[in-house]
Amino acid sequence: MPFIATNDVGTTMRRKLTPHQRLKVWEKTGGVCVLCECAIDAVRERWIVEHLRALELGGDDDFGNMGPAHEICARDKTRDDHRRAAHAKRQKIRHLGAEASKRPLPCGRNSPWKRTLSGQIVPR
Ligand SMILES: [Zn+2]
Repeated sequence: MPFIATNDVGTTMRRKLTPHQRLKVWEKTGGVCVLCECAIDAVRERWIVEHLRALELGGDDDFGNMGPAHEICARDKTRDDHRRAAHAKRQKIRHLGAEASKRPLPCGRNSPWKRTLSGQIVPR
């Protein structure tokens, strides 16, 4: 069986951008929304700096992972990202055994009862 090395993915810390950094992100795409690929009219429409790969899904907080996006487009992506991150966290909790089973096996290690060698069931 091949050994596959995996690296642990966690939530990346978010840093606050200065106006100059926001301008740099804007100029990276020339004011085109990275989600719907339409031009953003910055005078009339609200826009945000979107992380292409969400921070909570292991995305980096650097300019290579950022782009301008309409606030409305970003809201839909954020909702989907939260759903994916919650799913990933539930999987990680189960994989690491961080959660006790809700239905322990009868007389199993997590059960309040145990079976002795003579077959008698006694409280643990
Ligand atoms: Zn858009």
